[in-house]
Amino acid sequence: MRCNYCEWRCELGAESYGRCRMYYTDGLTIKERFPERWCTYEVLWIESIPFYHVNPGSRCLTIGTSSCNFDCKYCSNAFIAKQDPAVMQEKMFHFTPQQLVKMALKLGCQSIAFNVNEPTVSMPSLQELAREAAVAGIPMGCLTNGYTTPEATELLASVFSFFNISLKGLADDFNRDCIGIPSAEPILRTIRRLAETHHIEVTTPVIQGANDHELDDIARFISDVDAEIPWHVLRLLPEDEMKDAAYPDIERINKKLHSARKNLPYIYFHNFVGSEWVDTLCPECAAPVIKRFSLGCGGDQLQQLSCADGKCPSCGHNIRILGERTV
Ligand code: SF4
Repeated sequence: MRCNYCEWRCELGAESYGRCRMYYTDGLTIKERFPERWCTYEVLWIESIPFYHVNPGSRCLTIGTSSCNFDCKYCSNAFIAKQDPAVMQEKMFHFTPQQLVKMALKLGCQSIAFNVNEPTVSMPSLQELAREAAVAGIPMGCLTNGYTTPEATELLASVFSFFNISLKGLADDFNRDCIGIPSAEPILRTIRRLAETHHIEVTTPVIQGANDHELDDIARFISDVDAEIPWHVLRLLPEDEMKDAAYPDIERINKKLHSARKNLPYIYFHNFVGSEWVDTLCPECAAPVIKRFSLGCGGDQLQQLSCADGKCPSCGHNIRILGERTV
């Protein structure tokens, strides 16, 4: 039986677990090997996930499972994404969907986000959790690499209300050499599809000398889909097999982003201390409408929200934000 959760479309068996090693089949259905097993549960400010245009200043219960369907050479979560998930299990937490939702409510979280590894490898557990969260009125979001089949993209759309999709690069040689996939085309298709009906943000981790020359093209692609999609350019400090790679040059990237901003107003450049690119500027009059600060490495926080009614206080332009403003 073939798994169609992602574009690898692995042939599964009773002991053939697919590329991600997370599924098997009893001949009738596809089953998860480790249902309801979570590698973490943690409350974070939603800005640090990052979601910059969803419930600003809110608390979010973040979770993850194990494994991945990609093989990125620079992975910063390799100890979770690349390790044999069977070995990981002794370190995992077991929570039912009811327990996770109860936890989110008790801890004052406005949402639940899957943010450590790839949700595609744990779809049934996430579908169960989404059903329970919907009853409690808690929206769910996720970070995803977007390498889903069209059918699985519809499943993602039914589970999650908001997405941060990782678009790592466009060129086939980059995707083949650094990610291990033949092409970014399925990811572009997922971005186009989810942008039609859902709130999406896009993240590009910059790797010096590998994909930094593609920033203009990536900005153009996003802008063609929808010029109001927030784009996070992450200054990646490569780890795993690329831990000796040079760190991205902040000044060079600053210059590229200034030109990209003409077509894509919500550009953010972060994951380092002192970035000037963590505030939201009004696309119409350039007034700062949301101020944030970044401590680097996922430590972003809301500082000031001046558009709680969804409008720029200077010129009245609509500012795209999903959900309630908490400040
Ligand atoms: S989710 Fe896993 S088993 Fe299914 S197609 Fe993708 S890599 Fe293969």
